[in-house]
Amino acid sequence: MIKREDTRKIKLGNIEIGGSSKVLIQSMCDIKTSNIDQVIKEINDCASLGADLMRVSILDNEDAEAIKEIKKHINIPLIGDIHFSTDLALKAINNGIDKIRINPINTPKEELIKIIDSAKKHNVVIRIGLNEGSTTREGNNIHDINDLINLTKETIDFFENQGFYNLVLSIKSSSALKTISIYKELANNFDYPLHLGVTESGFDDIGIIRSTIGISNILLEGIGSTIRVSLTKDPKLEVITAKRMLHDLNLYPNYPTLISCPTCGRCKVDNIKEIAKNIMNYLEENNINITFAVMGCIVNGIGEGKNADIGIAGADHKFIVFRKGTIIKTVNEENLFNEVIQIINSL
Ligand code: SF4
Repeated sequence: MIKREDTRKIKLGNIEIGGSSKVLIQSMCDIKTSNIDQVIKEINDCASLGADLMRVSILDNEDAEAIKEIKKHINIPLIGDIHFSTDLALKAINNGIDKIRINPINTPKEELIKIIDSAKKHNVVIRIGLNEGSTTREGNNIHDINDLINLTKETIDFFENQGFYNLVLSIKSSSALKTISIYKELANNFDYPLHLGVTESGFDDIGIIRSTIGISNILLEGIGSTIRVSLTKDPKLEVITAKRMLHDLNLYPNYPTLISCPTCGRCKVDNIKEIAKNIMNYLEENNINITFAVMGCIVNGIGEGKNADIGIAGADHKFIVFRKGTIIKTVNEENLFNEVIQIINSL
């Protein structure tokens, strides 16, 4: 088990961030927030897949106003992403947002004080998000890690001088390796909860690989209270990927494990990949937290899959079904899915 770094505990709506709390999964809506019905649906779809908190962009008054209605129809904390506008931040807070993410460098100090005062009054959490590339000093982008850490320290000092401690920190980079280095420094310097992610990480497998390298290496150091796997245009896949990653790191225990062989010349059946995907989907959708093995042949399949609760191994257009390495049944390829589901449900 990974030993988690102890951080301050921050209360956010009905959940806690940091301390010994579990690593929380966050995603962000990819629809304009004023499209209220679609946003509510996307938030609830992501929540039913396992998102602990969701973020929306607040770009204008319509978005800030939408928060009121959205909050009535969701059961997880809502975060507003706001840049360059004190007015929108204040409106979002008044309308019931639970947390705001701002880059304080974009906001004059006297304006920031208004946001801090309002957040204090409404018990709203603020994430200081100083991403590499969007954080500037005197008009120049800051890329140096020490400069980013120093700027974070100055910013935290400013918040603390206003008596505000309800903070979460993040400094994301689009480089996985740089993100890892930044977060080690953040954890060395501050005890606020950290939100992890590799920003602009790409789509599908490109984004999954980059995010997994960045986030999992930081989590393995015991660092990180919330994560977002940023994937181009796919919040639901972000949530599923986050769960699978946390599960493989032993940070999300109640979840199915699927192993499937790569296949080789010994494989005796077709569609192994499709079979494996269908079974995993079924296990995930029905919260069946077993280990299932999908193997292409009986030569190595049964032995290599013997730790699985249930496994199947191909044998001349048939499948051998085994339980903890012991054969229990032979089934035809065409009946495989239904037979397997029956066995799973009889466990
Ligand atoms: S289980 Fe069989 S088919 Fe799959 S990789 Fe191993 S030897 Fe090849």
